[in-house]
Amino acid sequence: MKIGLLALQGAVGPHAEILASIGATTVEIRRPAELDDVDALVIPGGESTTMARLLVTSGLFDPLIERLASGMCAMGTCAGMIMLASTVLDGRPDQRSLAAIDIGVRRNAFGRQIDSFECPLEVSGLTGTFPGVFIRAPFVEEVGSGVSVGATVEDHPVLCSTEQILVTAFHPELTDDQRVHRMFLEMVEQ
Ligand code: GLN
Repeated sequence: MKIGLLALQGAVGPHAEILASIGATTVEIRRPAELDDVDALVIPGGESTTMARLLVTSGLFDPLIERLASGMCAMGTCAGMIMLASTVLDGRPDQRSLAAIDIGVRRNAFGRQIDSFECPLEVSGLTGTFPGVFIRAPFVEEVGSGVSVGATVEDHPVLCSTEQILVTAFHPELTDDQRVHRMFLEMVEQ
């Protein structure tokens, strides 16, 4: 099982560490050919407008759309969630997304005053709470059919999934809690 980490922009290091700690092999992806031998992909946090632009200029956008269309699993955190969403609200007018999960995501949705915060989350399928680390985070405003909401903050969905895609508005890779990444590996293994 080899997990690709999209490494065009943003913080891939913490994802690599947490995935290694639960036994997954990871490889950084910057070029289309590197996509060929990965079983799944993680898109990290960062800046979705920049990441979207780099996806196009690197030539990765279309091959990635193809892999996702043929069923490759992907996980996206924060900017990664925005990249995988079907609709981006408050994005740049020309901002493209991969539309792998039918959700409408608003960028920087928690506002500037509460730019970054931490709060315990109840996540379906996990016992106890999960430490939610939010950094200029989006939240989900539209949830399409076939999408499950696994966690909310003040009724706003912050973790959504299908059988193929897992997205979080928060950063599980910046905690010691491996359970969201384990959830993703279980999806990949199925
Ligand atoms: N606000 C960023 C964006 O719109 C996401 C922030 C993050 O990934 N921590 O892309």
